[in-house]
Amino acid sequence: MAGAAPAQERLDTVVRIVAQSMVAEVCSIYLRRASGELELFATQGLKPEAVHNTRLRPGEGLVGEVARMAEPISLSDAPSHPSFAYRPETGEDPYHAFLGAPLLRGGRAIGVLVVQNRSERRYDEEEVEDIQTIAMVLAETVASGELLAQDELRDIEVAPHRPENLKGQRFAEGLAFGHVVLHEAPVPPENLLAEDQQVEEIRLREALVGLKANIDSMLEGGPGKLAGQSFEVLETYRMFADDRGWNRSLEEAVRTGLTAEAAVDRVRNEHRARFATARDPYIRERLHDFEDLANRLLRVLAGDRPGERDLPDDAILVARNLGPADLLEYPRHKIRGLLLEEGSAASHAAIVARALQIPCVGRLMGLRDRLSEGDLVIVDGETGEAYLRPRPDMLAAVRSRIEVRSERQAEFTRLRGVDAVTLDGTRITVLTNAGLAVDLENLDATGAEGIGLFRTEFQFMVSEELPRLDAQTALYKLVLDTAGDRPVTFRTLDIGGDKVLPYLETEREENPAMGRRAIRLGLDRPGLLRLQLRALLTAAAGRELRVMFPMIATVDEFRAARELVDVECAWARRRGRALPALLRIGAMIECPSLLWHLDALLPLTDFVSVGTNDLFQYMFAADRTNPLVSDRYDPLSPPALRALAEIQKKCADTGTPVSVCGELAGRPLEAFALLTLGFTRLSAPAGGVGPVKRMILSADLPAARRGMANLLGSSSASIRGELESLARKLNITI
Ligand code: PEP
Ligand code: MG
Repeated sequence: MAGAAPAQERLDTVVRIVAQSMVAEVCSIYLRRASGELELFATQGLKPEAVHNTRLRPGEGLVGEVARMAEPISLSDAPSHPSFAYRPETGEDPYHAFLGAPLLRGGRAIGVLVVQNRSERRYDEEEVEDIQTIAMVLAETVASGELLAQDELRDIEVAPHRPENLKGQRFAEGLAFGHVVLHEAPVPPENLLAEDQQVEEIRLREALVGLKANIDSMLEGGPGKLAGQSFEVLETYRMFADDRGWNRSLEEAVRTGLTAEAAVDRVRNEHRARFATARDPYIRERLHDFEDLANRLLRVLAGDRPGERDLPDDAILVARNLGPADLLEYPRHKIRGLLLEEGSAASHAAIVARALQIPCVGRLMGLRDRLSEGDLVIVDGETGEAYLRPRPDMLAAVRSRIEVRSERQAEFTRLRGVDAVTLDGTRITVLTNAGLAVDLENLDATGAEGIGLFRTEFQFMVSEELPRLDAQTALYKLVLDTAGDRPVTFRTLDIGGDKVLPYLETEREENPAMGRRAIRLGLDRPGLLRLQLRALLTAAAGRELRVMFPMIATVDEFRAARELVDVECAWARRRGRALPALLRIGAMIECPSLLWHLDALLPLTDFVSVGTNDLFQYMFAADRTNPLVSDRYDPLSPPALRALAEIQKKCADTGTPVSVCGELAGRPLEAFALLTLGFTRLSAPAGGVGPVKRMILSADLPAARRGMANLLGSSSASIRGELESLARKLNITI
């Protein structure tokens, strides 16, 4: 179909050859203009003057109907069909038999190929197949610009190209722009027509066997082995992979003379077109399943692995969701951002994205329907938005925001080696939060003085099975080795709630945030907690070990947890194993109940750390993972700050070391409030260390404390504005 001849001549040749080979009196090609109208581009048999003059609205006439339905229509007597629209300029009145097939691209009809016969003949199945195959090849060649010159193509809609803005949720902060790389991306078939049909049939059959074996191996081990919904999704894939209709369509397509890849692509396009018009979300979901399955099959045919994919240097990875290892399989330095259709901030992909500092926005409904491979997109991890195919002014604004960020970053880098001391000489310890081995780089990169919260459950969450004792020990050892003299506080497993381990059977709970999570699970299943304590004690042999327990709600829980440490120490001692040189056991203050029992708790602890994320979700009864309620209260409010002041005071009175390790500690204004309340030990997410340190270096605490004392008495729900004014007045860099 390609060639050096002018476009019109090439199209004219196509219709002439098709008419001849199908023994049809008419063959015509209609292409969709940007207006949505289908314009007659070439014909053999209809009046030549109708070319570029006859235009049909979507749904108008049989041609419009083929495009609207994205399905072939075959009729022996077209004029008697209710959709038949007679256009006198075409001179088509003598023709009765009609066969039309859509030119499909990305599930949309970009044109229609029609053959017509004078007699009332019926086109047989093979002819319908043939015309679909030719339509498919035509669609590819039209869209690739091989058939029409680019300036003629410009007006023809081959893909959605409008700028769009989608609102989702922030999963990992940061800002990036780049070009879309679809995870499980369709591999466009390079060769459409088979050189040897039998070879292609065998290739297809073998690829199907390979695909099924591949899914089977992923499904092995049952639902416990796979993360989250992946098992169900894969089970559905497996069902579809066996779907007779799908298999038959593929076989038929390859038998029409297509390569195996082209056959898969054609069936995928047909499915997509059929489902794309479906409103029912369930059916649309199934469309995705078929889509993914076809993409997997194309990958099997291409012998391709994601890690080996040739990515652009500015890749924005787009996926429905990602499994534990998927993101790590890509070359990190090429991934600028991540957009997910599903997921939650606690999902694996989000955890890994934060650890790798890749901006990520999730829960973007309908994302994959609106994007094509290679589209330009902006990932705004600050507002939780994605801008698809942004206008130049939008892109320019984002570029300058990125520049400002990187200038600030350079300033934070300069502060790495500087001690965090306020203007009045108060030494503040700024630590960082971590959870994966990749986070350890952040210690040097940020200049944090240690790890104030090591979330041990992350290792469990990104594993496909329960990490064994040696794997846990190895990670803790690596953390301690990397930290060297810098202190590390390990928080024991905080699973349950929104952090679900698919391989660990737990009961379904109506209200998991208040369910059997964290220390509750640890105490109910002491085997799990003891194994972890054993790994920690082994890893820290001969050095300092700091361990804290999450979600302590009663003093008895802390006692029981501490006893387990004693039991493990005794066990190690009996076996002559080396123990840590220094053991410090602490409690996280995350349950409001403790506020009225600090006098009983604090003497039992070596230190405490305030987990403001949970403490405030329980104080304000607002689920931190639910965007409808999570922003309903402001932590910078008198009740929240008074609670913190109370904790700080009780700790100071009893000489109990205290830190704050919620997200709050990483935001300069909030951290400023914490300093005014007397906290001197903060553990911030890596991105917050620099900004908080910069704030500390500019703060004059005695003056700030006087201002804060008045604000705590306020009757407002939030004192954010007042605090901002105070910081401004005192020249504090927020
Ligand atoms: C917290 O609740 O504040 C906390 C630090 O723990 P996590 O965010 O892991 O629940
Ligand atoms: Mg917590």
